[in-house]
Amino acid sequence: MSASANSADLDRLARALDSANMPSLVAVLYQLTGDHVWLEDPYLPTRSRGMDDNDAGGFAPEVAQRIRAAALDAIFEWTNGTPPALPSPSNDQLVEMISAAVGESVPPEFASMIAEDMGFVAADEQVVTASSLSVIVIGAGVSGMLAAIKLREAGIDHVVLEKNSDVGGGWYENTYPGAGVDTPSHLYSYSFAPRSWSTHFGKRDEVWQYLSDVAADHDLRDRIRFDTEVSTSVYDSARQRWTVTTTSGEVLTADVVITATGQLNKAKVPPIPGLDAFRGPIFHTAEWPEGLDLTGKRVAIIGTGASAMQVLPAIASTVGHATVFQRSPQWVASSDVYFAPIVDDVSYLMETVPLYRLWYRARLAWNFNDRVHPSLQVDPEWENPAQSVNAINDAHRRVFTRYLENALEGRPDLIEKSLPDYPPFGKRMLLDNGWFTALRRDNVTLVAEGVASIGPDTVRGQHGTEVEVDVVILATGFETHKLLTPIDVRGRSGRSISDGWGSEDAHAHLGITVPDFPNLFLTCGPGTVLGHGGSYITIAECQVRYIVDVLKYMSDNRIGSVECKPEVEEDYVRRHDEAHSRMIWTHPGMDNWYRNDAGRVVSTLPWRIVDYWEMTHSADMGDFLVEEARQASSA
Ligand code: NAP
Repeated sequence: MSASANSADLDRLARALDSANMPSLVAVLYQLTGDHVWLEDPYLPTRSRGMDDNDAGGFAPEVAQRIRAAALDAIFEWTNGTPPALPSPSNDQLVEMISAAVGESVPPEFASMIAEDMGFVAADEQVVTASSLSVIVIGAGVSGMLAAIKLREAGIDHVVLEKNSDVGGGWYENTYPGAGVDTPSHLYSYSFAPRSWSTHFGKRDEVWQYLSDVAADHDLRDRIRFDTEVSTSVYDSARQRWTVTTTSGEVLTADVVITATGQLNKAKVPPIPGLDAFRGPIFHTAEWPEGLDLTGKRVAIIGTGASAMQVLPAIASTVGHATVFQRSPQWVASSDVYFAPIVDDVSYLMETVPLYRLWYRARLAWNFNDRVHPSLQVDPEWENPAQSVNAINDAHRRVFTRYLENALEGRPDLIEKSLPDYPPFGKRMLLDNGWFTALRRDNVTLVAEGVASIGPDTVRGQHGTEVEVDVVILATGFETHKLLTPIDVRGRSGRSISDGWGSEDAHAHLGITVPDFPNLFLTCGPGTVLGHGGSYITIAECQVRYIVDVLKYMSDNRIGSVECKPEVEEDYVRRHDEAHSRMIWTHPGMDNWYRNDAGRVVSTLPWRIVDYWEMTHSADMGDFLVEEARQASSA
């Protein structure tokens, strides 16, 4: 409705408003009218519980009707040319608005991040005055695509090398049944590329199609060399350049390398005795055989993480029998909209009233990103430290326990096997994808044992349970700590980055930049995966903005190399480890893929997203050893 609205539009809009998320609508209404009454009783929605969208907002029907009627008027005025009363709310106004919309007090430090994400303030312009740098981006998944988009916007010459035949990284590779996001799709989208998602939690094909469309919209494929796998990347100090070699022997050079190789893409196949002797199909979830027909088959699923959570419900009604080998039980949360489609009316509202989409996303960001972070801090005085780390974590435990007990009511055997004895959030939380319903099926057996061995047609548990199977699915996770491998990355001293890190102990300033590796920038680097929830895309956007900020400085100032100062990285890693030592993921009651065998958390961010946003918002060039360019760069 960009031009003036007619009565047909109005009818359509009125219908769409019936499906609106009321808390988001209240914020839109206030922003359009500037009338503070909409942020006061009785128009304040209730607080969202858990991951609930709280669509109704807890309003009495007549109050909801008043809000809708006023919103219809305000949107009608806006479509006819009346600008929003608050086109760019101040930080104080934003905090008041988001607090009202989520029904709880949002700390003031969130305002700047929210304002930028919603586009109410322009981010600093990142355009180089004259392009003099060349960049190689390794990987064309979520982060690599983002890097290419932002490098082009900045005017920096680049090429992307991608080992697969198309974009999408993990979303290209993971085709197992049931694969999808467990972060709401409206949040798991680039901030600059909204989408009308068909469901709240998009499945793999839709997510991949989104990434493919973003690639098309930004002409990315022209700058990506597919089926090109990097084997080495070596820095030449004299030339201030990286030499990158591919597995086919091709050699490329550039001033800067940005790695976008992810953390969840090297399949972890445990060294189970007999693995190679199995006669039927045996494969990792990330390597699902194309066209595999499981109809009537006896299937073993090894592992109960996020991948298994999605596979089992997707295949349970097809297989003859599924046996799940569970080494450790998992905490499972639920979302009331997990399976719900996003109705056309809501998509229409989002497309017609972009402010509505922005406020809907802002609410999701609060509910899914940092809200839970304070509850993951260990309370040293807490009286029940084995089960939970503080009072709120204990309340979460009660909620998730109740959910599990309800879902498995009448099956005390399954309840006993499924209830974890470690604090919730200690491992990555899972969203119920029909897991408990699948476990209750007659053709599904849960064996609460790790796997001891595999025979030609059997899987044997650690306590002796043996089952005959036709197919084995390894839902056993990823080599999350071997960052950048198998690429041999060598810096100024000639030493490889993995030698410096040790086999499983990666570290980097901000997870992005490493001493001895000038002009190398990591995305999805150590300590930047989200364990407390939220969208990784937000983190990727922080990282790419930071990297482009450094490159802009280099380009505008004829800088040949930037190298993180060792003491800067040391201080960052010390603070990172200290923060983790007070958090749940170092709890001794469970294992998780976030920490290495020595107990150091390598993968996840210990801070809130808003803290990381602040840390990476602009590069502090004082953190780097800087050398002038010795020669003119050539791509
Ligand atoms: P994971 O969470 O690391 O789970 C691996 C599972 O395999 C665990 O249950 C583990 O048991 C089990 N396991 C490993 N070795 C075993 C052995 N020798 N015997 C028996 N069991 C064994 O892996 P994932 O499920 O692939 O998920 C990894 C991450 O990928 C997720 O945490 C998430 O970040 C991402 N992911 C996301 C989605 C999504 O919904 N968006 C979907 C899939 C993956 P223990 O727990 O005892 O170690």
